[in-house]
Amino acid sequence: MSQEYDVVIVGGGHAGAQAAAALRQAAFKESIAVIGEDPNLPYERPPLSKEYLAGERSFDRMLLRPETFWRDREISILTGVRASIVDAEARTICANGSSISYRKLIWAAGGSARRLTCSGHDLGGVFTVRTRADADAISAALGQVNEIVVIGGGYIGLEAAAVLSKMGKKVTVLEALSRVLARVAGEPLSRFFEEEHRSHGVEIRLEARVDSLIGRDGVVAGVCLANGEILKAQMVIVGIGIIPSVAPLLEAGAAGSDGIHVDEYCRTSLPDIYAIGDCASHQSRFLDEKRIRLESVQNANDQAATVAKAIIGSPAPYTATPWFWSNQYDLRLQTVGLSAGHDAVVVRGDPKTRSFSVVYFRDGRIAALDCVNTPRDYVQGRKLVEGRVSMDKTAVADAEVALKDMPFVA
Ligand code: FAD
Repeated sequence: MSQEYDVVIVGGGHAGAQAAAALRQAAFKESIAVIGEDPNLPYERPPLSKEYLAGERSFDRMLLRPETFWRDREISILTGVRASIVDAEARTICANGSSISYRKLIWAAGGSARRLTCSGHDLGGVFTVRTRADADAISAALGQVNEIVVIGGGYIGLEAAAVLSKMGKKVTVLEALSRVLARVAGEPLSRFFEEEHRSHGVEIRLEARVDSLIGRDGVVAGVCLANGEILKAQMVIVGIGIIPSVAPLLEAGAAGSDGIHVDEYCRTSLPDIYAIGDCASHQSRFLDEKRIRLESVQNANDQAATVAKAIIGSPAPYTATPWFWSNQYDLRLQTVGLSAGHDAVVVRGDPKTRSFSVVYFRDGRIAALDCVNTPRDYVQGRKLVEGRVSMDKTAVADAEVALKDMPFVA
């Protein structure tokens, strides 16, 4: 069976769904299909490690749009369908054995959770947190579980640890590096979150290397560390990042490796093929034009808007300011800018008050802020990041003075 659409979007996550919605909003009248491997209508992922895992939000309230939205706008959402081959010359993709023709293709396939490869990785009771099915499987298994080991001290691992410890589970977080959040934040933020988790009874183990998982009757029973120590666990949650879903496009000849290379209009190196969201690697003006793959709702939504503009013929380059959030316990972390490659860090306020900001500098200019329960710094800091302004570090450290009232350094 062969089908034909003007725009085919592979991936029904934040980026793909938002691209379809943005096209219709821009009065794009031609046919649109969103092809998604997930059996559900497009939904938000962030609650999977937060409110949904905690049982505080229903799945219906995570849908990006109700079913009627897609129907009313004549956007075909093909769920449970996987695109496996892209033929850039014939302008077709192969999905679940069918050939689908496109005029424009948007690759918004995100990524899949990276899994362990050590012995025992495939035991029952070992989970990742990427899809609704993952979160449902964790919830269904929790009743039999008292001790949980979370492997990976990134945002998703820490958020899951916060939810599960609040449920009364004994949670241990294993981080291979010398601090949690090491890839995304500076040391003051890492140390703050380590202390915060410890104060809630979560054990944080740093420089902890997993050797293997030990099973009993096919279900995980413990984690064996490289130093020979064994931690009892009836559940293991693996939060060690994602593998971007890029293989079919790379095989079709698109430039890229860890992510599909795109230009400022989200165009790949292949004709009429765009890439957006977690799977796309763009050059960021917030990182001295270096390439980066951003895994955030902001990036997915803003790149979706960029691609829609390009397709309707009013292109505008992607220049959006990166931002992100994470909720752990009663803490609201908001980050703006990109802290990668920072060469100085200033802490505004006292972390002991659980309300403070970490300001990152690159070449004397403000590159990013991590704001913990400090929405005012987040809002005012955003302008400083966008302007890449220089500021006196001692002045910035004075939390009594609002960032907006501080003089710039010429
Ligand atoms: P995805 O949401 O991954 O969507 C891609 C879709 O493509 C998937 O549904 C997948 O099934 C489908 N797909 C893949 N390959 C194929 C194929 N070959 N054929 C058909 N379909 C395919 N970001 C924040 O900004 N703040 C947060 O607090 C936050 N928390 C998060 C918590 C969790 C647990 C997770 C998993 C992510 C979180 N994120 C957060 C990240 C954010 O959700 C992602 O950046 C965002 O979902 C990326 O959207 P995307 O559309 O690019 O990719």
